[in-house]
Amino acid sequence: MHDLHAHKPNIFAGSPLDRLDARRKDVAWVKAQLTAPDAAFLPVWRSRSLLAGEAKAPATGTLDPVLAHGLLEAAPWALLGVADGRPFFALDLSSLDSPPAPDGTRYEDLRRAGSLLPADDAAILAHARGLMHWRTRSRFCGVCGAACVPRDAGHVMGCTGCGAHHFPRTDPAVIMLVTRAGRALLGQPARFRDMRVFTTLAGFVEPGESLEEAVAREVWEEAGVRVARVRYRSSQPWPFPSSIMLGFHADATTEAITADADELVEARWFTRDEVRAREGWVLPPDMSIARRLIEEWLEEK
Ligand SMILES: [Zn+2]
Repeated sequence: MHDLHAHKPNIFAGSPLDRLDARRKDVAWVKAQLTAPDAAFLPVWRSRSLLAGEAKAPATGTLDPVLAHGLLEAAPWALLGVADGRPFFALDLSSLDSPPAPDGTRYEDLRRAGSLLPADDAAILAHARGLMHWRTRSRFCGVCGAACVPRDAGHVMGCTGCGAHHFPRTDPAVIMLVTRAGRALLGQPARFRDMRVFTTLAGFVEPGESLEEAVAREVWEEAGVRVARVRYRSSQPWPFPSSIMLGFHADATTEAITADADELVEARWFTRDEVRAREGWVLPPDMSIARRLIEEWLEEK
């Protein structure tokens, strides 16, 4: 799977699961997976994932299959895929006030644990969290308002009123490191004001827009800078709650900055030495694609 990526996969990418999407319609096969003695059931509870192991070296937590079977009637669930013959399921227990947690496990936010988990575990848990987020928000039809019921091992919600099929959604967001004459444009997001983080600019892709156009629009809106030569670098599943981050480098064609006060405390041009020294401020976390885009630029020289 890792051979797919031109560079090392970002955290939350590189899942070892075979999603076997062609088999999801086969009800008897799905049932056989559900009752497989080694089936792994990965619960999500109110956006938190079940983790086992030490806090500094966590791993995926699973529910006992017998316990999980008793919960499947009421809890949204889906088959994530199969690895080495072992099926992996996600189930959402958010309707419970105190979800079951076997000894030595707890529910934690993947945003905190992501960089500590083994890469395979991080990818599978991100998949589970993203899919369950969609499931818990797809109970009713957006076309006619009637109730929806799950099909295809939890990957389709079928409307009981108008028959529409609703599929899992992923919202594309662009994230970009803009450079000019040996300096990079970094902004301090207003929402991380207290942490003094300087990071790449980012924003959601709008309907009718290419990714390159989204990059240019967001940089113009947030910093008042024009860009050219937008180059794709890598991507990162970002299920917080339902994005994929699409990472780019771009060249600025103008220099003066006008920061959007709603989004940014300030934006500045930094040399590589200033980024390496980062006096009085920090970069985004190691596991983020923002950090990766910045590190790649630092390594260019
Ligand atoms: Zn409907």
